[in-house]
Amino acid sequence: MIIIQWTVFAIVIAVAIFITIMGLRFRRGKEAYLCGDCRFNNDEDCHKTERPEATICTSYRRINS
Ligand code: SF4
Repeated sequence: MIIIQWTVFAIVIAVAIFITIMGLRFRRGKEAYLCGDCRFNNDEDCHKTERPEATICTSYRRINS
């Protein structure tokens, strides 16, 4: 019975670590503001008043994606 409990515990920990790693890997914006690594962060492509300090933006696109 103890082996089953430890197996379940190990699976739960492994899933939690996996979710954390995936969340960090695919989170939006790697800098304090989204604009820091947005492909539209220039005067021609973005006319939003939030730039360059947007923390929420539906137009955000990562430079390398
Ligand atoms: S599209 Fe949004 S995230 Fe990108 S530069 Fe403009 S305001 Fe910033």
